[in-house]
Amino acid sequence: MSLTAQSAVVVHNPSNMFYLTQGYTGEGCVFISGTRRVIITDFRYVEQAEQQAPGFQVNMTDRGLGHNQWVAKLCQEDQVDTLRYEDDYLTVRSFESLRNAVGDGVSYLSLAGAPEKLRQIKTPAEAEAMRRAAAITSAAFEALLPKIKEGMTEKDLQIELDFTMLKLGADGNAFETIIASGENGSLCHAIPGPRKLRKGDMITMDFGAKVDGYCSDMTRTVALGEPSTEMRRVYDTVLQAQILAEEALAPGKTGAELDKIARDYIHSQGYEGRFGHSLGHAVGIDIHENPRLSYLSDDVMEPGVVITVEPGVYIPGLGGVRIENTCLVTETGCEPLTTPTKELIIL
Ligand code: ZN
Ligand code: ZN
Repeated sequence: MSLTAQSAVVVHNPSNMFYLTQGYTGEGCVFISGTRRVIITDFRYVEQAEQQAPGFQVNMTDRGLGHNQWVAKLCQEDQVDTLRYEDDYLTVRSFESLRNAVGDGVSYLSLAGAPEKLRQIKTPAEAEAMRRAAAITSAAFEALLPKIKEGMTEKDLQIELDFTMLKLGADGNAFETIIASGENGSLCHAIPGPRKLRKGDMITMDFGAKVDGYCSDMTRTVALGEPSTEMRRVYDTVLQAQILAEEALAPGKTGAELDKIARDYIHSQGYEGRFGHSLGHAVGIDIHENPRLSYLSDDVMEPGVVITVEPGVYIPGLGGVRIENTCLVTETGCEPLTTPTKELIIL
Protein backbone atom coordinates (compact mmCIF):
# COMPACT_ATOMS: atom_id res chain seq x y z
CA MET A 1 0.00 0.00 0.00
CA SER A 2 1.45 3.38 -0.91
CA LEU A 3 0.78 6.47 1.12
CA THR A 4 0.19 9.74 -0.69
CA ALA A 5 0.17 13.00 1.22
CA GLN A 6 -3.61 12.80 1.31
CA SER A 7 -4.06 9.32 2.72
CA ALA A 8 -3.43 8.13 6.24
CA VAL A 9 -3.79 5.05 8.38
CA VAL A 10 -4.99 4.70 11.94
CA VAL A 11 -4.11 1.50 13.79
CA HIS A 12 -5.69 0.31 17.05
CA ASN A 13 -4.75 -3.39 17.27
CA PRO A 14 -2.00 -3.55 19.96
CA SER A 15 0.02 -6.17 18.03
CA ASN A 16 0.01 -4.01 14.90
CA MET A 17 0.88 -0.91 16.95
CA PHE A 18 3.83 -2.79 18.47
CA TYR A 19 4.98 -3.90 15.01
CA LEU A 20 4.67 -0.52 13.27
CA THR A 21 6.31 1.42 16.10
CA GLN A 22 8.88 -1.33 16.71
CA GLY A 23 8.21 -1.54 20.38
CA TYR A 24 5.28 0.45 21.79
CA THR A 25 3.20 -1.64 24.22
CA GLY A 26 0.78 0.91 25.69
CA GLU A 27 -2.79 1.92 24.92
CA GLY A 28 -4.19 4.25 22.29
CA CYS A 29 -3.70 4.31 18.55
CA VAL A 30 -1.08 5.01 15.93
CA PHE A 31 -1.62 7.54 13.14
CA ILE A 32 0.63 7.50 10.07
CA SER A 33 0.33 9.89 7.15
CA GLY A 34 2.74 10.85 4.39
CA THR A 35 4.14 13.54 6.66
CA ARG A 36 4.08 12.16 10.21
CA ARG A 37 4.06 9.17 12.52
CA VAL A 38 2.19 9.67 15.79
CA ILE A 39 1.24 7.67 18.87
CA ILE A 40 -1.91 9.05 20.47
CA THR A 41 -2.21 7.95 24.09
CA ASP A 42 -3.19 9.04 27.59
CA PHE A 43 -0.98 10.42 30.35
CA ARG A 44 -0.02 6.98 31.71
CA TYR A 45 1.88 5.97 28.57
CA VAL A 46 3.42 9.19 27.28
CA GLU A 47 6.89 8.66 28.73
CA GLN A 48 6.82 4.96 27.87
CA ALA A 49 5.85 5.72 24.26
CA GLU A 50 8.74 8.19 23.92
CA GLN A 51 11.16 5.53 25.17
CA GLN A 52 9.76 2.61 23.18
CA ALA A 53 9.20 4.37 19.86
CA PRO A 54 11.78 7.15 19.46
CA GLY A 55 10.84 7.70 15.79
CA PHE A 56 7.28 8.64 16.70
CA GLN A 57 5.72 11.87 17.85
CA VAL A 58 3.63 11.32 21.00
CA ASN A 59 0.37 13.23 21.39
CA MET A 60 -1.31 13.07 24.78
CA THR A 61 -5.07 12.97 25.12
CA ASP A 62 -6.88 15.19 27.60
CA ARG A 63 -10.46 16.06 28.40
CA GLY A 64 -11.01 18.23 25.36
CA LEU A 65 -8.93 16.16 22.97
CA GLY A 66 -9.59 12.42 23.06
CA HIS A 67 -8.05 9.81 20.75
CA ASN A 68 -10.59 10.37 17.98
CA GLN A 69 -10.40 14.17 18.25
CA TRP A 70 -6.64 13.90 17.83
CA VAL A 71 -7.10 11.77 14.71
CA ALA A 72 -9.57 14.37 13.40
CA LYS A 73 -7.15 17.22 14.09
CA LEU A 74 -4.25 15.41 12.38
CA CYS A 75 -6.44 14.52 9.38
CA GLN A 76 -7.38 18.17 9.03
CA GLU A 77 -3.80 19.42 9.34
CA ASP A 78 -2.54 16.85 6.81
CA GLN A 79 -5.52 17.37 4.45
CA VAL A 80 -6.28 13.68 4.59
CA ASP A 81 -8.98 12.52 2.19
CA THR A 82 -8.67 8.77 2.73
CA LEU A 83 -8.35 7.13 6.13
CA ARG A 84 -7.59 3.43 6.34
CA TYR A 85 -8.53 1.57 9.52
CA GLU A 86 -8.74 -1.97 10.85
CA ASP A 87 -12.28 -3.07 10.05
CA ASP A 88 -11.41 -6.48 11.49
CA TYR A 89 -10.49 -4.98 14.86
CA LEU A 90 -12.52 -1.84 15.63
CA THR A 91 -16.00 -2.51 16.94
CA VAL A 92 -18.91 -0.95 15.09
CA ARG A 93 -19.36 1.46 17.99
CA SER A 94 -15.69 2.50 18.04
CA PHE A 95 -15.70 3.05 14.31
CA GLU A 96 -18.87 5.16 14.55
CA SER A 97 -17.24 7.42 17.15
CA LEU A 98 -14.14 7.74 15.00
CA ARG A 99 -16.26 8.70 12.00
CA ASN A 100 -18.32 11.15 14.02
CA ALA A 101 -15.14 12.90 15.15
CA VAL A 102 -13.34 12.95 11.79
CA GLY A 103 -16.43 13.73 9.72
CA ASP A 104 -17.69 12.84 6.28
CA GLY A 105 -15.09 14.76 4.31
CA VAL A 106 -12.90 11.67 4.43
CA SER A 107 -13.32 8.25 2.76
CA TYR A 108 -12.96 5.33 5.14
CA LEU A 109 -11.25 2.28 3.70
CA SER A 110 -10.26 -1.04 5.19
CA LEU A 111 -6.59 -1.64 5.89
CA ALA A 112 -7.40 -5.13 4.60
CA GLY A 113 -4.93 -6.86 6.92
CA ALA A 114 -1.92 -5.01 5.48
CA PRO A 115 0.03 -4.88 8.78
CA GLU A 116 -0.63 -8.59 9.41
CA LYS A 117 0.65 -9.38 5.91
CA LEU A 118 3.88 -7.49 6.61
CA ARG A 119 4.19 -9.39 9.89
CA GLN A 120 4.18 -12.77 8.12
CA ILE A 121 7.79 -12.40 6.97
CA LYS A 122 10.08 -11.95 9.95
CA THR A 123 13.10 -9.64 9.67
CA PRO A 124 16.46 -11.02 10.88
CA ALA A 125 15.99 -9.03 14.13
CA GLU A 126 12.54 -10.54 14.67
CA ALA A 127 13.86 -14.05 13.90
CA GLU A 128 16.59 -13.44 16.49
CA ALA A 129 14.01 -12.49 19.16
CA MET A 130 12.06 -15.63 18.31
CA ARG A 131 15.23 -17.71 18.58
CA ARG A 132 15.78 -16.29 22.09
CA ALA A 133 12.17 -17.05 23.08
CA ALA A 134 12.47 -20.60 21.74
CA ALA A 135 15.81 -21.16 23.46
CA ILE A 136 14.29 -20.21 26.83
CA THR A 137 11.33 -22.51 26.17
CA SER A 138 13.65 -25.39 25.26
CA ALA A 139 15.88 -24.82 28.29
CA ALA A 140 12.89 -24.68 30.67
CA PHE A 141 11.72 -28.07 29.36
CA GLU A 142 15.13 -29.61 29.86
CA ALA A 143 15.37 -28.19 33.38
CA LEU A 144 11.93 -29.63 34.22
CA LEU A 145 12.60 -33.24 33.16
CA PRO A 146 14.60 -34.38 36.23
CA LYS A 147 11.98 -32.82 38.52
CA ILE A 148 8.98 -34.76 37.16
CA LYS A 149 7.97 -37.34 39.80
CA GLU A 150 5.03 -39.60 40.56
CA GLY A 151 2.47 -37.83 42.77
CA MET A 152 3.11 -34.34 41.43
CA THR A 153 0.06 -32.63 39.98
CA GLU A 154 -0.34 -31.13 36.51
CA LYS A 155 -0.58 -27.77 38.27
CA ASP A 156 2.83 -28.39 39.92
CA LEU A 157 4.39 -28.90 36.48
CA GLN A 158 2.76 -25.74 35.15
CA ILE A 159 4.08 -23.66 38.06
CA GLU A 160 7.58 -25.11 37.67
CA LEU A 161 7.66 -24.48 33.89
CA ASP A 162 6.29 -20.94 34.08
CA PHE A 163 8.65 -20.05 36.95
CA THR A 164 11.67 -21.48 35.10
CA MET A 165 10.89 -19.56 31.91
CA LEU A 166 10.72 -16.31 33.89
CA LYS A 167 13.97 -17.14 35.69
CA LEU A 168 15.64 -17.80 32.34
CA GLY A 169 14.67 -14.37 31.05
CA ALA A 170 11.17 -14.64 29.58
CA ASP A 171 9.03 -11.50 29.82
CA GLY A 172 6.04 -13.79 30.33
CA ASN A 173 4.13 -16.66 28.81
CA ALA A 174 3.23 -16.60 25.14
CA PHE A 175 -0.03 -18.34 26.17
CA GLU A 176 -1.41 -20.31 29.13
CA THR A 177 0.68 -23.43 29.65
CA ILE A 178 -1.11 -26.68 28.81
CA ILE A 179 -0.32 -29.80 30.84
CA ALA A 180 -2.30 -32.98 30.23
CA SER A 181 -1.43 -36.27 31.90
CA GLY A 182 -2.74 -39.79 31.41
CA GLU A 183 -6.28 -39.91 30.04
CA ASN A 184 -6.42 -36.06 30.10
CA GLY A 185 -4.01 -36.20 27.15
CA SER A 186 -6.93 -36.56 24.76
CA LEU A 187 -7.94 -32.95 25.59
CA CYS A 188 -5.94 -30.87 23.09
CA HIS A 189 -6.14 -27.72 25.21
CA ALA A 190 -6.31 -29.21 28.70
CA ILE A 191 -6.16 -26.83 31.66
CA PRO A 192 -3.59 -28.10 34.19
CA GLY A 193 -5.46 -29.48 37.17
CA PRO A 194 -5.13 -31.49 40.39
CA ARG A 195 -4.60 -34.86 38.67
CA LYS A 196 -1.56 -36.58 40.17
CA LEU A 197 1.05 -38.15 37.92
CA ARG A 198 1.13 -41.96 37.94
CA LYS A 199 3.57 -44.55 36.59
CA GLY A 200 2.76 -45.32 32.97
CA ASP A 201 1.31 -41.83 32.25
CA MET A 202 2.11 -39.94 29.10
CA ILE A 203 2.37 -36.21 29.89
CA THR A 204 1.78 -33.61 27.18
CA MET A 205 3.24 -30.17 27.84
CA ASP A 206 2.50 -27.29 25.44
CA PHE A 207 4.02 -23.97 26.40
CA GLY A 208 6.13 -21.06 25.26
CA ALA A 209 8.03 -18.04 26.48
CA LYS A 210 7.48 -14.50 25.23
CA VAL A 211 10.67 -12.47 24.80
CA ASP A 212 10.99 -8.88 23.54
CA GLY A 213 7.42 -9.03 22.27
CA TYR A 214 7.76 -12.32 20.36
CA CYS A 215 6.21 -15.70 21.15
CA SER A 216 7.43 -19.27 20.99
CA ASP A 217 5.39 -22.45 21.02
CA MET A 218 6.53 -26.00 21.75
CA THR A 219 4.90 -29.28 22.74
CA ARG A 220 6.57 -32.39 24.02
CA THR A 221 4.95 -35.56 25.33
CA VAL A 222 7.01 -37.61 27.78
CA ALA A 223 6.34 -40.89 29.59
CA LEU A 224 6.61 -41.47 33.32
CA GLY A 225 7.77 -45.09 33.37
CA GLU A 226 7.09 -47.51 30.50
CA PRO A 227 3.97 -46.53 28.59
CA SER A 228 1.45 -49.09 27.32
CA THR A 229 2.12 -50.69 23.92
CA GLU A 230 -0.85 -48.80 22.52
CA MET A 231 0.40 -45.38 23.68
CA ARG A 232 3.88 -46.19 22.44
CA ARG A 233 2.37 -46.87 19.02
CA VAL A 234 0.47 -43.55 19.17
CA TYR A 235 3.73 -41.80 20.03
CA ASP A 236 5.68 -43.37 17.17
CA THR A 237 2.92 -42.41 14.73
CA VAL A 238 2.85 -38.76 15.81
CA LEU A 239 6.64 -38.58 15.81
CA GLN A 240 6.89 -39.94 12.28
CA ALA A 241 4.16 -37.55 11.07
CA GLN A 242 5.96 -34.61 12.70
CA ILE A 243 9.32 -35.57 11.16
CA LEU A 244 7.83 -36.04 7.67
CA ALA A 245 6.06 -32.66 7.74
CA GLU A 246 8.99 -30.75 9.23
CA GLU A 247 11.36 -32.26 6.66
CA ALA A 248 9.01 -31.14 3.89
CA LEU A 249 8.58 -27.58 5.22
CA ALA A 250 10.27 -25.30 2.66
CA PRO A 251 9.57 -22.25 0.47
CA GLY A 252 7.00 -22.92 -2.24
CA LYS A 253 5.03 -25.54 -0.30
CA THR A 254 1.41 -24.75 0.52
CA GLY A 255 -0.25 -25.10 3.90
CA ALA A 256 -2.60 -27.77 2.55
CA GLU A 257 0.23 -29.83 1.04
CA LEU A 258 2.15 -29.88 4.32
CA ASP A 259 -0.94 -30.67 6.39
CA LYS A 260 -1.72 -33.58 4.06
CA ILE A 261 1.71 -35.15 4.58
CA ALA A 262 1.19 -35.49 8.34
CA ARG A 263 -2.51 -36.34 8.07
CA ASP A 264 -2.08 -39.06 5.45
CA TYR A 265 0.60 -40.74 7.53
CA ILE A 266 -1.54 -40.65 10.71
CA HIS A 267 -4.51 -42.08 8.78
CA SER A 268 -2.33 -44.81 7.26
CA GLN A 269 -1.55 -45.99 10.80
CA GLY A 270 -5.23 -46.43 11.63
CA TYR A 271 -5.86 -43.17 13.47
CA GLU A 272 -8.35 -41.57 11.09
CA GLY A 273 -10.51 -39.07 12.99
CA ARG A 274 -8.02 -38.80 15.87
CA PHE A 275 -6.09 -35.79 14.52
CA GLY A 276 -8.84 -33.21 14.60
CA HIS A 277 -6.92 -29.94 14.41
CA SER A 278 -4.74 -28.41 11.73
CA LEU A 279 -1.02 -29.10 11.47
CA GLY A 280 0.27 -25.65 12.43
CA HIS A 281 0.04 -21.88 12.61
CA ALA A 282 2.47 -19.03 12.18
CA VAL A 283 3.82 -17.43 15.35
CA GLY A 284 5.17 -13.94 15.99
CA ILE A 285 3.94 -11.04 18.08
CA ASP A 286 0.75 -13.10 18.45
CA ILE A 287 0.71 -16.78 19.25
CA HIS A 288 -1.59 -17.58 16.32
CA GLU A 289 -0.85 -15.76 13.06
CA ASN A 290 -1.11 -16.46 9.35
CA PRO A 291 -0.10 -18.40 7.31
CA ARG A 292 -1.64 -21.67 8.49
CA LEU A 293 -0.83 -25.30 7.81
CA SER A 294 -4.31 -26.70 7.26
CA TYR A 295 -6.22 -28.60 4.60
CA LEU A 296 -8.01 -25.31 3.83
CA SER A 297 -4.84 -23.26 3.39
CA ASP A 298 -3.42 -22.31 0.00
CA ASP A 299 -0.86 -20.06 1.77
CA VAL A 300 2.57 -20.56 0.17
CA MET A 301 5.57 -20.83 2.50
CA GLU A 302 8.28 -18.18 2.09
CA PRO A 303 11.66 -17.62 3.75
CA GLY A 304 11.12 -15.67 6.96
CA VAL A 305 7.84 -17.33 7.90
CA VAL A 306 7.90 -18.77 11.44
CA ILE A 307 5.39 -21.57 11.82
CA THR A 308 4.60 -24.54 14.04
CA VAL A 309 4.48 -28.17 12.97
CA GLU A 310 2.30 -29.94 15.53
CA PRO A 311 0.51 -33.16 14.65
CA GLY A 312 -1.31 -35.02 17.43
CA VAL A 313 -3.40 -38.11 18.05
CA TYR A 314 -6.11 -38.02 20.74
CA ILE A 315 -8.03 -41.04 22.00
CA PRO A 316 -10.72 -40.29 24.59
CA GLY A 317 -10.38 -42.43 27.70
CA LEU A 318 -6.84 -43.44 26.80
CA GLY A 319 -4.79 -40.29 26.26
CA GLY A 320 -3.00 -38.35 23.59
CA VAL A 321 0.31 -37.33 22.09
CA ARG A 322 1.32 -34.07 20.42
CA ILE A 323 4.80 -33.06 19.27
CA GLU A 324 5.33 -29.46 18.19
CA ASN A 325 8.26 -27.42 17.00
CA THR A 326 8.31 -23.75 16.04
CA CYS A 327 10.29 -23.53 12.77
CA LEU A 328 11.78 -20.68 10.74
CA VAL A 329 11.39 -21.21 6.99
CA THR A 330 14.78 -20.64 5.33
CA GLU A 331 15.85 -20.35 1.66
CA THR A 332 16.18 -24.13 1.37
CA GLY A 333 14.05 -25.69 4.10
CA CYS A 334 13.50 -24.83 7.72
CA GLU A 335 15.33 -24.27 10.99
CA PRO A 336 13.58 -25.65 14.07
CA LEU A 337 13.85 -22.95 16.76
CA THR A 338 12.68 -25.26 19.56
CA THR A 339 15.38 -27.87 19.97
CA PRO A 340 14.79 -30.61 22.61
CA THR A 341 14.79 -34.17 21.29
CA LYS A 342 11.55 -35.43 19.78
CA GLU A 343 12.35 -39.06 20.59
CA LEU A 344 10.25 -40.48 23.43
CA ILE A 345 11.75 -39.59 26.80
CA ILE A 346 10.91 -42.19 29.46
CA LEU A 347 11.44 -40.80 32.94
ZN1 ZN B 1 1.61 -25.19 21.26
ZN1 ZN C 1 0.83 -24.22 18.47
